[in-house]
Amino acid sequence: MRDRPARHLTRWYAAIIDTLFPVRCLVCGCDDPALKLGMCSSCDKAITALCREPACPTCARGVANYEVSKGLCGDCRDKKPRVDGTVRAGPYVEMMQPLVRAFKYQGQEDLLQFFGPRLVDEISRASWSSRVEAVAMVPTHWRRRMRRPFYAPSALAEYVSKSCHLPLVGILQRTRCGPHQIGLSYTARIQNVHGAFAMRSGVKLSKARILLIDDVKTTGATIDECARVLRRSGATEVYAAVAARVQASPGDGANLSAM
Ligand SMILES: [Zn+2]
Ligand SMILES: [Zn+2]
Repeated sequence: MRDRPARHLTRWYAAIIDTLFPVRCLVCGCDDPALKLGMCSSCDKAITALCREPACPTCARGVANYEVSKGLCGDCRDKKPRVDGTVRAGPYVEMMQPLVRAFKYQGQEDLLQFFGPRLVDEISRASWSSRVEAVAMVPTHWRRRMRRPFYAPSALAEYVSKSCHLPLVGILQRTRCGPHQIGLSYTARIQNVHGAFAMRSGVKLSKARILLIDDVKTTGATIDECARVLRRSGATEVYAAVAARVQASPGDGANLSAM
C-alpha cells in the first residue's frame, strides 16, 4: 500500500513525457499511436513491399526480374564471386535507412524482430538453404566490441542459428582494427579489409558449407574477404545473409558514403 503514491507519480511522469515527447515513427516521423517495432502501419506496408523487390541471387543487389532467373547480375558476371549466394532482409534504400541505423549504430535491439524473421524467410526460400551446415558471423575487432556492446551481426547470427536449427560457430576473428569502411571507394574498401580476418587458432574446415551473417553489405568487400579466408581453410561453399544491401556496384567509385 505504501508504494501507491510512488506508482501514481510514475504514471503521471510517463504521461507528461509522452505528451511532451510523443514516440514517432522511425521512418516518416508521424505520431501514430499504434507503432509496431517503431513504425507506423503505412511505413511497415511500404517497407514490406520494398523487401519483396527482386534481388540478384548471388550478390543480393536489387535487379530486374530477368536477372534473377539467370542467377547472376551483370556485376557478378564480370567477376568470380567468392560467395555462392546472398540474401538480404531488404534493400538499403531511403525508407530502410533509419531502421538500419537504429539497429546497427543505436543498439535498438527490438529491431531484431523486424530484420530477423525477414532474413530467415529469405534464407528458407534460397535454392542453397538446405545445403548450409553452420552459421558464422562477420566478426568485429574486440576493441570495437568494447566500445559498442550491441553488435548487430552477432544478434542476427544467433537469431538465424536458432530459427534455422543450425549451429552457430565462432570460427572467424578480426585480427586488424582498421578504419571504418564508410566513405571509402570500392578499391579502398578491398584494400582496407585485405588480411583483416583470420580463422580462430586451431580451426580447420573440411568441405564445410558456411552461411555468413552481416548487418549491411555495401560493396561486399568485407564478406568477400571473410569468404576468401573460409575457402582457404577448407570451406567449399560460402553463402551470405545480410540485414540490408546497398545498391552499390564496382563502377560507383567513391560514391559509397552510405555505410
Ligand atoms: Zn511511418
Ligand atoms: Zn549480383
